[in-house]
Amino acid sequence: MNTLEFAKKILAIPSPSGYTKNIIEFLKQECASKHLDHEITQKGNLIIRLKGQDRYRLGLSAHVDTLGAMVRSISADGTLKFSGIGGPLLPTYDGEYCYVMTRDGQTFTGTFLSNAPAAHVHKEARTMARTEENMHIRLDEIVKTKDDVKKLGIGPGDFIALDPKIVITPNGFIKSRFLDDKISVAILFSLLDHLKANNIIPKHDLTIIISTYEEVSHGAGSIPDLDEMIAVDMGCIGEDLSCTEYDVSICAKDAFSPYDFDVTNRLVNLAKELKLNYVLDIYPMYSSDVSAALRGGNDIKGGLIGPGVSASHGMERSHSDAVENTLKLLIGYLQA
Ligand SMILES: [Zn+2]
Repeated sequence: MNTLEFAKKILAIPSPSGYTKNIIEFLKQECASKHLDHEITQKGNLIIRLKGQDRYRLGLSAHVDTLGAMVRSISADGTLKFSGIGGPLLPTYDGEYCYVMTRDGQTFTGTFLSNAPAAHVHKEARTMARTEENMHIRLDEIVKTKDDVKKLGIGPGDFIALDPKIVITPNGFIKSRFLDDKISVAILFSLLDHLKANNIIPKHDLTIIISTYEEVSHGAGSIPDLDEMIAVDMGCIGEDLSCTEYDVSICAKDAFSPYDFDVTNRLVNLAKELKLNYVLDIYPMYSSDVSAALRGGNDIKGGLIGPGVSASHGMERSHSDAVENTLKLLIGYLQA
């Protein structure tokens, strides 16, 4: 499987937290076609199980939900007020195309704009703070009043997804919104393909968790019984951190907690042994599905790795080198 091409497919399926059933259905079919033992939990997480050589229970997770928004209200002029889902960088929403998905299954297109969107009219066009209060959605429908919008079937509580703007460049960059964390979901599916193609039985029983509410903090709050869990999620880049878009990042501590001492050491030693481009970093403003699992009271050893992703929660970018390094570390870890 070409990981970037598979990433492109799932990036194209809208999946803000709370509206993930279409993408989970897509991944479920993928599992069925690969004859993988899988199930969907009540909250909508996809669980895949592989028998290992012993009964130690290792879990790997990645989240398929993304940032987005929800319709808050319809304004008198036929535009929409919205409430953000997750922790988006709202200034980057300004000017972005979006999809408004109604509860009766219709999809409408629109654009996020500031309330001073016209440079030729609004004195504050350049300076107005891009906040929920100061922004709206302009629908691509002939709507002039609140009633016009209501008649379309749009209303409070409808989900809003952003156009991810996916581009893969010939020199290996992938730029798109929501590489966090769909790039890692693609890596996990490549890992499954690799195991199958090479007839590898993992050392330990393996559970893969594709979670659906990570961006709103409770994705893997409840998980199947595990001894150890490694979240595969984007590596942070910026300021004094070591990671680049070409590395697999191993996280020693995030804003919630340090990760398990032994698991982190094993990952670092293996990355050295395999001569991977890796870094060991701390993530100052981050929590993962392992954090959610620990908060949920699960007794697990936790780890966190992932490909370096630039400009996270904005217009993100990574590179095939980071994807390869992450995949190789996982392949090695399952057999170590
Ligand atoms: Zn993430």
